[in-house]
Amino acid sequence: MKPIVLTDEQRKEIERRRKETLDRRIYQRLTAVLAVASGKSREEVAELLGVSLSQLGERLRVFRNEGLDALCALRYEGASVTCPGCQGAAPFHDYRPISPMSLVGPIRLKRAYYCCSRCRLGLFPFDDKAGLSFHRLTPAAERVVCLGGLLCDGFEEAATNTLPEAAGLRLSEPTVQRTAEDAGARLGKPLDQGCTLGENGCFDWHKDACGRSCAYVSIDATGVPQQAKDGGKAEGRMPDVAMVYNPLPDKDVRQHQARPKP
Ligand SMILES: [Zn+2]
Repeated sequence: MKPIVLTDEQRKEIERRRKETLDRRIYQRLTAVLAVASGKSREEVAELLGVSLSQLGERLRVFRNEGLDALCALRYEGASVTCPGCQGAAPFHDYRPISPMSLVGPIRLKRAYYCCSRCRLGLFPFDDKAGLSFHRLTPAAERVVCLGGLLCDGFEEAATNTLPEAAGLRLSEPTVQRTAEDAGARLGKPLDQGCTLGENGCFDWHKDACGRSCAYVSIDATGVPQQAKDGGKAEGRMPDVAMVYNPLPDKDVRQHQARPKP
C-alpha cells in the first residue's frame, strides 16, 4: 500500500479542519490520515479508531484519489446513484455546501451532488437520509417549528414570538406555515392509507367484574372554528375524536377515594 505523504501545508489544513469540525466521523477520518502520515501502522490506527482495516483503507483511498473535501464530505454514495426519473445512472458531480438551520443555529456541511443529464435532475441523497427538509431545517428544528405552528394562535405569532424566544429559531411566517403544512401532508398519506402510527404495544388492562381484561372506546365530534382566506368568516368543522380508555375497577376507585386528600 502506498504511504501517505503530507506537505506542511496539507498537514496544517487537516489539523485546522480537525479542530473545527463538530462531526465525530470527520474528526475520525482526519485523525486517520494524520496518524498514517506520521508513520503509524494501519493496524495500529484502525485499532486506535475502532474501525476495520478495510474501512481505514477506503478512507485513505478517498483522501489520496479525491482529496480532502471528499474525505470530509458525509455520505459519498459512490460514482453514481439511480435517477428516480428515468432509473438510469446519475453520476457524481461534486460536493455542494448547504447550511441547514438546526436547534443550535445554522450548521455548515458539504454533501455529494449527483446529476442526471437526461432528466436534468439534481440529487442530494444525503439530504433525504439525514431528514433535511425542503425548507433546510434539521429534523429536530422541523419538529419544533411544526409544534410552534400548531400550538400558537397563528403562524405569525410562532415566527415572530414563540420560536425565536423558545428555540432561537428566526424564520419567516411563510416558512413556518409551509413547514407545518408539509409535515401535515406527509402524515396524512399513511393515515389515508389506513396505516397506524407508532409501535404496537401490549397493555396491562384492568379487569372487569368477570375478571376479563377490557377497554372502552369513546367517540365524539368536537367543534373547531375555521377562518377563511384573508381572515374572513368560514363555517366551523367537526372532526371526530376517539379514545380508548381503561377505567379503574370499583374497588380501586374506592381505595383511591379513601386516600387522604392533599
Ligand atoms: Zn434521469
